[in-house]
Amino acid sequence: MRATHAPTYTDEQLAYLDWYNSHVQAFFYAGLFSYVLLLGLANFLSRLLSAAFVRRFHTLHPSPIDQKGLVRLFSACVASWRKCTYRRSQLVVWVGLGSAAQLFVLLGYLAMTFSIAFSGAYGYPDYQAHHCARLAYAHVPILVGLASREAGVLAWLTGFSPSTLLNMHRWMARTVFFLVCCHIGGRVYTNVPTVNPSLPHMRYQAWGIAGLIFWSIMVFGSIRPIRRRFYKSFIFTHIFAFALSIICLSFHRPQVAPYLAAAAVVYILDRLVRFGSLVYFNLFRAVALGQGPTATVAVVGKDVIKVQVSTGLAWKPGKHVYLHAPLLEAGGHPFSIASSYLPVSHLDSDPKPRAGVLALVIRVHSGLTAKLYQHALRGQENGADGENSSTPVPIWPVFVEGPYGHDLLLHRYESVLLITGGTGVTFALSCLLDLVRRARNRHLGGTKPLVTSRVTFVWSVRNSGDVNCIAQELREAIHYAPPGFLDVQIYITSAGRNLEVVDTTASSRSGSSSSMLKRVPTSATLSIEKEVLRPHISNRSTETLIPRYDQPHAITFSRSIYDDLARSPPPAPTSIDFLDQVPLLSHTTNTSTTSTSLDSVVIPLHTGRPRIRDIVADVVAQTPRAGSVAVGTCGPVALTDEVGAACSDRIDPGKVSRGEHRLNIMLHSEVFGW
Ligand SMILES: Cc1cc2nc3c(=O)[nH]c(=O)nc-3n(C[C@H](O)[C@H](O)[C@H](O)COP(=O)(O)OP(=O)(O)OC[C@H]3O[C@@H](n4cnc5c(N)ncnc54)[C@H](O)[C@@H]3O)c2cc1C
Repeated sequence: MRATHAPTYTDEQLAYLDWYNSHVQAFFYAGLFSYVLLLGLANFLSRLLSAAFVRRFHTLHPSPIDQKGLVRLFSACVASWRKCTYRRSQLVVWVGLGSAAQLFVLLGYLAMTFSIAFSGAYGYPDYQAHHCARLAYAHVPILVGLASREAGVLAWLTGFSPSTLLNMHRWMARTVFFLVCCHIGGRVYTNVPTVNPSLPHMRYQAWGIAGLIFWSIMVFGSIRPIRRRFYKSFIFTHIFAFALSIICLSFHRPQVAPYLAAAAVVYILDRLVRFGSLVYFNLFRAVALGQGPTATVAVVGKDVIKVQVSTGLAWKPGKHVYLHAPLLEAGGHPFSIASSYLPVSHLDSDPKPRAGVLALVIRVHSGLTAKLYQHALRGQENGADGENSSTPVPIWPVFVEGPYGHDLLLHRYESVLLITGGTGVTFALSCLLDLVRRARNRHLGGTKPLVTSRVTFVWSVRNSGDVNCIAQELREAIHYAPPGFLDVQIYITSAGRNLEVVDTTASSRSGSSSSMLKRVPTSATLSIEKEVLRPHISNRSTETLIPRYDQPHAITFSRSIYDDLARSPPPAPTSIDFLDQVPLLSHTTNTSTTSTSLDSVVIPLHTGRPRIRDIVADVVAQTPRAGSVAVGTCGPVALTDEVGAACSDRIDPGKVSRGEHRLNIMLHSEVFGW
């Protein structure tokens, strides 16, 4: 075939064009590998820095590494990066990314890919079109790898969260789509008279066009509104269209079949590893002699259920698992683990338990979660008379797959601030319980590494009744925390409509009429509720009022409240009044506790909305100058954005370079949706 727009080149130039064209994939892989290595190096250095703090704790003397100018310079660079990236700009929101850091990483990748595609061609479109096609094929195995759960290796290397990797997966797929369009455009431009897919020797063109159609279905079918609204159809169409596009593309260019085969191998391996670990952890790793994992489900709030699985699986705080209940629905669903593997009361000297109780606190939607909810209700109806709504009902079979997610290493930070909203609290709960267990052990003379000296736990929840879903865990945390270690602040944001008595103690749930807490909203709370909350909630009176941040309409709903609040300063949160004077924190160094003493622990509730900026500023102020601060957040987008902006404002690279390390805040924002 002779190109109609072919310019004339010298033999030397033609040799270079052919050489470059045949090495495009190698350039791409080398560039990508170096890029990942660079990100991995930055991640490794920042981990090294936090490890230096652990060493300092161990020796009880400032480590010489803290004094070195180079370390301070590196810290200042990290602080500058964090200051720029923690605030989500409109551009970041518009391109559907989680943070400015993701945008920078994406821009680096795009610059590399397009410079490879459009160089080495002396501006000749036909060669550029070939480069684009070769690059598109080279992307396919990487795309599959990024979407697989085994991408955890990459997450470990780079420090990226699973949602960041999935965002990269999406943008890479869009880039492939663009490259393919450039390929078609370039080929058509240079070969206009010979484009005719109906001719037998031109059939490859028809295969190419069919491949592009299936690829387009994947790309456009995965845009956020479609993905969120029709998740199951999206997954099914995605896998089906992927298989078909691979078949079409291998007919289009049989020479590139190895790339497609590599993609298929990555996909099959991912499935095999997942299936293998599912079988191993759920069937072979018994939790007790001859006993597999056991699970229960209970209704613990309005539209909230709690699943508890006794499992031989071990997990770290902040991780999530996929829950499979095959008799209710095929396929696993991701949920953050709301419990710690070792119980809070566990001492370093105690033997490790064979099984941990993995707790999941789940907001009910319309798929698997609704079926679990129905199962819990049916079980309770069939149960004995007088059972209350929180009675756990056995469920079988239930499998957990994972754990997946980030290793946050929060115990390496002097001050830890956890700010969550709604069911986002599950992510923070496992971190809190783990830190309290470590702190208690240190308090009792243990030697395990722990830098953290203070944890502030802030939870914003719409209804006081929903506090019950994690009341037991909170009581344990408050009960076992050493003096001055834990500050729990729970905000009831819809407070003020009713002046009802709020009792979060165990005695109330078991039918006792005695009340231990009473919310008394101030006039400030009442007025803000009238001006801001009422208009937004008036048409949702039959729905649960905890923000549903994994649904688009909910994001709008909660954002509008936060937007309104941004215009007027939030009211000062009101404190609680105690009807009965029960000690708020009952510190004890006993190695065991009775359920009665746990039940008497009171959970403090505030009415109103947390003042995020003030809380962040307080936590920083209470941290020693050279100490480190970590913030973890999960919840409505408006909340996590506000936390990001507050952290960005506090970070000061100049002061960090002069040794004020506490102003180099580390922020982790957890997302509950892909
Ligand atoms: C890492 C992570 C941790 C999460 N942790 C929690 C948690 O601790 N508590 C909690 O209540 N929810 C959590 N979620 C959200 C939870 O996975 C979904 O709400 C749940 O899968 C909905 O199931 P469903 O069949 O009832 O949903 P549907 O009624 O079918 O859909 C409701 C919403 O859930 C989304 N969704 C459905 N299936 C999935 C899936 N397999 N993966 C991701 N999103 C899905 C849909 O896009 C839709 O927006 C988490 C999500 C992720 C990604």
